[in-house]
Amino acid sequence: MSSRRRTLLKVIVLGDSGVGKTSLMNQYVHKKFSQQYKATIGADFVTKEIQIEDRLVTLQIWDTAGQERFQSLGVAFYRGADCCILVYDVNVRKSFDTLDNWHEEFLNQASPTDPKTFPFILLGNKVDIDGGNSRVVSAKKAMEWCASKGNFPYFETSAKEDYNVDAAFLHIAKLALAND
Ligand code: GDP
Ligand code: MG
Repeated sequence: MSSRRRTLLKVIVLGDSGVGKTSLMNQYVHKKFSQQYKATIGADFVTKEIQIEDRLVTLQIWDTAGQERFQSLGVAFYRGADCCILVYDVNVRKSFDTLDNWHEEFLNQASPTDPKTFPFILLGNKVDIDGGNSRVVSAKKAMEWCASKGNFPYFETSAKEDYNVDAAFLHIAKLALAND
């Protein structure tokens, strides 16, 4: 008999088109990476079960299906979110500059009870490209942004090389549990 508690956490992944949201999710859930660029098809979310201390946690990870380019994501997408992963591409300045908009958009659409303590995390993805020589946003800049918004944790990731992907998802899951 297991006395473990089960918890469902809804995780929202946001950021500009092309930053690697779908790739991060695929790497995390399916341990797969594809160079091919294609809009997400099918389900609105994927799930992954993880163990955090005495809890069995089901992460329900919601990815956009390409609508982030031209239309709003709709209420169902944001409803009941427990945490939010913001993603930018360290090689694309614009994807960093739009983080303010994504953050605002999330707060407006999801209207969390306490926006100040709501668990966000920032991921600077594609750090593998060109051995880091083509990056245009420094870790320092990213951490300054995080500090200005409320001390969001910052992780540098590569969906391609599976760098920091598990760590980032685990971190945000723990924050969401603590905020429960
Ligand atoms: P999304 O629009 O944010 O979902 O971005 P995708 O996950 O579709 O990725 C866009 C493109 O970037 C695809 O060609 C991916 O293969 C590529 N990509 C995603 N993550 C990485 C990464 O960490 N490193 C590299 N080199 N390419 C990546
Ligand atoms: Mg995508």
